[in-house]
Amino acid sequence: MDFPSFDVLVIGGGAAGLRAAIAAAETERSLRIGIVSKVYPMRSHTVSAEGGAAAALRPEDSWEKHAFDTIKGSDYIADQYVVETFVREAPLELVRLEHWGCPWSRDPDGKISARPFGGMSVWRTCFAADKTGFHLLHTLFQTSLKYEKIARLDECFVTSLLVEDGRCVGVSAMNQRTGAIHPIGAKSVILTTGGNGRIYAFTTNGNICTGDGMALAYRAGVPLKDMEMVQFHPTGLPATGILITEAVRGEGGYLINNKGERFLKDYVPSKMELGPRDIISRAEVTEFEKGNGFKGEHGDYMHLDVRHLGEETIDLKLPFMRELGLDYVGIDIVRDPIPVRPVEHYMMGGVDVDIYGASELSGLYAAGECANVGLNGANRLGSNSLTECLVFGAAAGRAAAHHSSQAKAPTANPIAALVEDETRRIEKTYMADNGGKGERLADVREELQRSMDLNVGVFRTAEGLAEQEATVHELRQRYKKVQLDDHSKVFNTELTAALELDFMLELAEVMTHCAAARKESRGAHARRDFPDRDDEKFLANTIATRGAPGQPPKIEYRPVRITDWQPAVRSY
Ligand SMILES: Cc1cc2nc3c(=O)[nH]c(=O)nc-3n(C[C@H](O)[C@H](O)[C@H](O)COP(=O)(O)OP(=O)(O)OC[C@H]3O[C@@H](n4cnc5c(N)ncnc54)[C@H](O)[C@@H]3O)c2cc1C
Repeated sequence: MDFPSFDVLVIGGGAAGLRAAIAAAETERSLRIGIVSKVYPMRSHTVSAEGGAAAALRPEDSWEKHAFDTIKGSDYIADQYVVETFVREAPLELVRLEHWGCPWSRDPDGKISARPFGGMSVWRTCFAADKTGFHLLHTLFQTSLKYEKIARLDECFVTSLLVEDGRCVGVSAMNQRTGAIHPIGAKSVILTTGGNGRIYAFTTNGNICTGDGMALAYRAGVPLKDMEMVQFHPTGLPATGILITEAVRGEGGYLINNKGERFLKDYVPSKMELGPRDIISRAEVTEFEKGNGFKGEHGDYMHLDVRHLGEETIDLKLPFMRELGLDYVGIDIVRDPIPVRPVEHYMMGGVDVDIYGASELSGLYAAGECANVGLNGANRLGSNSLTECLVFGAAAGRAAAHHSSQAKAPTANPIAALVEDETRRIEKTYMADNGGKGERLADVREELQRSMDLNVGVFRTAEGLAEQEATVHELRQRYKKVQLDDHSKVFNTELTAALELDFMLELAEVMTHCAAARKESRGAHARRDFPDRDDEKFLANTIATRGAPGQPPKIEYRPVRITDWQPAVRSY
């Protein structure tokens, strides 16, 4: 059987994927590089990033300050060696983007502007108005087009990793235009498949953020790290979950409760609206519980008020927020406060990789939101993520290129056989008609999302997590009987949604077990039954490995790497 084969195969066309592909192409010009993406690259979730990308570029800043803010933000379970490397590389990456044509917003003297962001001690979030992700992704995409050795397979859905003799030798992928499943061989594979926010009902994440790469790696036996660490952003629009960027608070917006108070004075007095996301999200929920929220059709909410900034500043710095207010809430933020509440936003956990993006499985790398290189620990600071995609996307691209220049090409026969198995599995599971008697896909998905919101949200308890373990177990049984209506081949979006739900159920199980096992509160993981941080037992990363069929994940703890910054009380 004929199959396309690449030296380096990147799964994902977001910031991390495109940066990895460019780095691989620049490392070794003779390599053939493929980018597979389930959507056209410019539709990746990176495009919706609004606020900015962090790097210590200004004279009053330093890499030490950026490192300390990140480590404190992580509640001391970031890998300090990784953080140090990140903050030193970050300015180089942002300047490189500038040279590739990224239209950063500028100060009057022509230098790249910065704005303050939560948990950062200095103004270091560089931005392109409030559409940073769009401009950053566009810059990477147009740069990737320069390299003839980079081939793209757009609208191609990866269903599994191919593993032969203990190494990753490619993927099986469904061409969504034809429905055919093909093998794609590779000497190395880089997963850059983004986050998994769609496991929750109320999220800022796009529909495609279903955690596919994390589940693919986990199923291939690769551990996942810190999967209990889910970031809730304090300012999502109540009905839709659409994000109101932290830049709104960075530019001076106030959070106000129903008593007209800037309530954060009781929670993060020294930082107020520029406190970190985990603490502000908890403050909002606590205020709601005290009856201090505004009541709305979609639950309680707070007001985010920017009226005092004036129309000129809003139009210059936050034009997209004004558009969102008009289009999705019917308000003009120049004249009206914005209703907001906490919303699932970002996955700190991901595929366990080292500083080069290498996983335990030979030939398999990961970068961006689907990976956990050790930068974010228990709470990511806003605007570190886009920069993380650049710094560690590039690192993974270079490492994979070196690996591929020495690795053997995969052989055709085992690959073809692996893909025939995969085709049979998908046909049997999803294409059989059982007379419409099976489970509805949407019912299982909605129940998963609703129960994750309820039990694995901003605050957690042993009872809620035990209930969620049972719910996910039951949903996985129900999923086995799922019945699709669409049996066609061409762009069968019901089939891709079914494959995505399968990934999400697997990950929800891991997240719930990891959250139940960490009996302390740290960063975004807030247990009502264990309100304190417990450094004696949990100054460590959670490592989850897939158990035997029907068994829960195996959970272990790996001590954190500490270099210069000793754990201290995290107060702001
Ligand atoms: C609304 C919003 C605003 C944000 N704002 C900021 C911000 O201002 N600053 C900041 O630092 N961070 C921000 N973040 C976080 C940041 O944008 C993301 O973490 C980051 O962009 C993720 O990039 P990525 O390359 O890892 O993945 P993505 O951009 O999500 O790309 C994933 C890619 O993988 C592909 N893919 C996935 N599954 C498959 C599969 N099975 N087969 C084939 N291809 C697949 C997709 O097609 C896509 O191309 C924001 C996030 C959101 C949701």
